[in-house]
Amino acid sequence: MLLEEIKKFLLEDSVNRFLKYVQVWTTSDDLSQSAPSTKNQLELGKILTTELKELDLDNVIHDDYGYVYADLPASNGLEEVRRIGLIAHIDTSQAVSGKDVKPVIHKNYDGGTIEFANKDIKLTVEDSPILKDYIGLDIITSEGDTLLGADDKAGIAEIMAACSAWRNFPELKHGPITICFTPDEEVGKGTLNINKKRLPEICYTMDGSEMGELEFECFDAWKATITFTGLSVHPGYAKNLLINAAHIASRFLSEIPEQESPENTEDREGFYYVTGFKGEVEEAKAGLIIRDYVEENNEERMNFLNKLKELYEIRYPGLRINLQFEHQYSNMLRFIEKDKFVVDLAEKAIEMAGLEVKFHSIRGGTDGSRLSEMGIPTPNIFSGGSLFHSRKEHIPTLALQKASEVLLHLAKLWITA
Ligand SMILES: [Zn+2]
Repeated sequence: MLLEEIKKFLLEDSVNRFLKYVQVWTTSDDLSQSAPSTKNQLELGKILTTELKELDLDNVIHDDYGYVYADLPASNGLEEVRRIGLIAHIDTSQAVSGKDVKPVIHKNYDGGTIEFANKDIKLTVEDSPILKDYIGLDIITSEGDTLLGADDKAGIAEIMAACSAWRNFPELKHGPITICFTPDEEVGKGTLNINKKRLPEICYTMDGSEMGELEFECFDAWKATITFTGLSVHPGYAKNLLINAAHIASRFLSEIPEQESPENTEDREGFYYVTGFKGEVEEAKAGLIIRDYVEENNEERMNFLNKLKELYEIRYPGLRINLQFEHQYSNMLRFIEKDKFVVDLAEKAIEMAGLEVKFHSIRGGTDGSRLSEMGIPTPNIFSGGSLFHSRKEHIPTLALQKASEVLLHLAKLWITA
């Protein structure tokens, strides 16, 4: 059990840091070729570097790619305890503006509708059923014109608050811990330039959703790029000659089963997701992502697209279709299964914080997906927010405190693990 004094400290510290971090613009950019994808991410990295030094962490580094690394020395006599890593990401999704975020605390939530300063949206229990559990709590949102950025600045604030508690309360014992804050997670490049040598053999990301959540399964993820090459001819003289790439591509895409789209699937169902399409007569291009927990199901989806390509090339002589698949990340389950105790300790830590553990499968991926594949088992612990990538994103202040508590318990459990 943690002393009330420590819990109070964690609440204040994590909330203050969170309110500060969300105001720093860190939107990443899918189309950028640079690393980090946006310069503004470096600004938060700089702030974190300063704060980590203030908290007396060792080897604090902010590298050119925008990664922040730091080592928390073990409590006296615990130097030989196995080192663990704590990871959160700096960037926010480009789906919604993350510039000039103005956080608002709605005190003592009454179970009703939350009004935003920006009057055109409201947050209701229908939008977010978890709100039913938040009656009496203080809830943080944006003003409704931007996302909030709890994904994943909550994770950062929670790790920082834990570091702050370890420093201020020496009775909280822990082994050596490495902190890593990553850029560009939202554009799938969170581990692209990560320095694996700088990380311990076991890590945890703080990038899940609601309180109590613990995840160690994610999608197996593929990206497909389809290029259609046609032939332009004056439409008045086009009979048996014209090959209209734009029009044919639109027919091709409409053959993809509608019931296997993100908007028609949930739980353990996989999908195809057309993320972009651009077409003219001579050339059309479509981008897709393909997701499933089961690798074989994704293979079937790719076979389906390959067969469709063959069919269309026969149906439209002269048409050329180029189909390219790129593997993005694997279901981390099969890498973590053999080190299941890493998950078990997180489960115990969540219970010690007085929460019910909710095992979910991530309908997406995290930095931990890639790291697990790279040989560093990295389950995902909740950061506490809901409706990520949305102007209705929200987080109760209690979740920030509870996630920090989980980290203190987790570090303690590792001492005897
Ligand atoms: Zn995230």
